[in-house]
Amino acid sequence: MQATTQLIHSIPVDPLTGAIAVPIYQTSTFVQEAPGVNKGYDYARTGNPTRAILESLIAQLEGGSTGAAFASGLAAIDAVVKLLQTGDEIIAVNDIYGGAYRLFEQVYAKFGITTHYVDTTNPDAVSHALTSKTRLIWIETPTNPTLKITDIRAIARIAKAHGCLLCVDNTFASPALQQPLLLGADLVVHSGTKYLGGHSDLIAGLVVTAEPELGQKIKFLQNASGAILAPFDSFLLIRGIETLHLRVRQHCASARAIAAFLENHPAVNKVYYPGLVKHPGHNVAAGQSKGFGGIVSFSLKEDTLAAATAFVTSTELFKLAESLGGIKSLVSHPAAMTHKTIPAEKRKAAGVTDSLIRLSAGLEDTEDLIDDLRQALDRLTIKAEIKSNSNKKQAILN
Ligand SMILES: *Cc1c(COP(=O)(O)O)cnc(C)c1O
Repeated sequence: MQATTQLIHSIPVDPLTGAIAVPIYQTSTFVQEAPGVNKGYDYARTGNPTRAILESLIAQLEGGSTGAAFASGLAAIDAVVKLLQTGDEIIAVNDIYGGAYRLFEQVYAKFGITTHYVDTTNPDAVSHALTSKTRLIWIETPTNPTLKITDIRAIARIAKAHGCLLCVDNTFASPALQQPLLLGADLVVHSGTKYLGGHSDLIAGLVVTAEPELGQKIKFLQNASGAILAPFDSFLLIRGIETLHLRVRQHCASARAIAAFLENHPAVNKVYYPGLVKHPGHNVAAGQSKGFGGIVSFSLKEDTLAAATAFVTSTELFKLAESLGGIKSLVSHPAAMTHKTIPAEKRKAAGVTDSLIRLSAGLEDTEDLIDDLRQALDRLTIKAEIKSNSNKKQAILN
């Protein structure tokens, strides 16, 4: 049976009523027959039937043993860091999601958990950064916004040999394309806000573990710290996951076509998409993912904040917003938005130049999306021509 069929039918029909959709158990507590005698649920922070269906669904999707649903992606990341103790060290991908960086540096550093940032696209750099205190290796692949690819199998081997955990933030690929636990990772985290939810209508996070014992530790932390996902949001996320494979197929097809279009446009400098053969991570991505994802980044020939601003404010279908992975296409300008607080030199060294633009291909018709990008790019070209003509005129007059 194919994964999609299996997935759809693993969501149980409600045994009580026959409801084909997952019921939303909007309750805080569960009546007990006698103290400690219950139907598997006692208090809804600890466990809720709607959330439980979501948790087993994500565990199945990632090929893991245990799933846990949280109030946001960052709450999920927070639970993984809480597996560590004071004095432990983390090795993390150097262009890590900004929120994870803030959590590691501004929350956990003061509790004595130190993070070293390395270029994990080079497994040797990870090996060199290991110390006797390293307990966790943290990677994202592809990364945001330059879509760098890390070899999950290679990093998993290093983690195993060193006896530390490997956690993969699988938000950008989604389990429809990439299943890190099957490649040797110990944990996967997701911002369910993005592709899993898929409709830009909720904030959610998920953790999945390969081993049940580690899963029990995450479940303990979920209950102990309490950042659980609410029943209605669990329902929405289940509903999103039901169409994940179908949506991701279309996101990938549009992104590929967009990357090819951008490559040939005279106003574009560089295109970042792992599906392009010349992308440095192309072969690794092809070896560990079923597709190259729905995100495309590119820089402009005119590498200025002004040119990027002109572009991102002249698309019509691509809405200017943070986030990604929804039905509607989004455009963002990292240097002025998500990466604004990073000093310019550091930001540029990571490839986030002034004109870098990130696109999240939605589910609109591919040709319509390309037409929208074309009209916005052509406007830039016309502006540049006018400017250069007026410069020439000025030079003659001078
Ligand atoms: C959005 C995102 C997060 C954080 O998730 P929230 O749901 O916003 O808390 C973590 N990692 C990646 C890669 C993300 O894109």
